[in-house]
Amino acid sequence: MPNTKTLVLIKPDGLAKSLTGNVLTQLSETHLQIIGSKIIRVSAELAKKHYEMHRSKPFYNDLIDYITGKLHTRHKVMALVYYGENALEKVRDICGDTNPELADPESIRGKYGRILTSGLFENVVHTSDSIESAEREIKLWFEPHEIIFDIYPSEEKVLKSYKKLVWID
Ligand code: ADP
Ligand code: MG
Repeated sequence: MPNTKTLVLIKPDGLAKSLTGNVLTQLSETHLQIIGSKIIRVSAELAKKHYEMHRSKPFYNDLIDYITGKLHTRHKVMALVYYGENALEKVRDICGDTNPELADPESIRGKYGRILTSGLFENVVHTSDSIESAEREIKLWFEPHEIIFDIYPSEEKVLKSYKKLVWID
């Protein structure tokens, strides 16, 4: 089996319900490596890029509100990159079916997910569904230096006018 990488997001409901530890513990059963992780406040711009393939779906607006944290008290997401043998399939298996009602009751979504009255599946985690979408999503959520391996080709670029927030001494 080849080594693959996949993006995992612990969505705002996972953070609001203090499920970070439970999700990470369950994912550790895969014996995969975490090669990048961070807590992010998700902008509408990032959310729309991430879910661009769902633009025409009836649940799209709710989905953008969900991932940007508008439905919860914790307006943040934990983003992780998992790497190792068959990572994509292993992580998708442990996360479970998209619909929490159909998900294996021992999967993360089966245990902790729910369907809102609006019909939106509030399913605690996101995970990439193919090698191609993993690459697109990892590059969207992470910069090269935030991942401990060189998983995709990168280059050093001198940026002319570049604004950066720095600590005040
Ligand atoms: P997955 O997250 O399993 O890859 P999709 O990419 O198809 O699933 O959908 C993205 C997210 O949109 C899901 O995780 C879920 O939160 C929501 N969703 C997907 N399908 C539906 C649906 N039929 N009704 C309500 N919400 C949905
Ligand atoms: Mg998907």
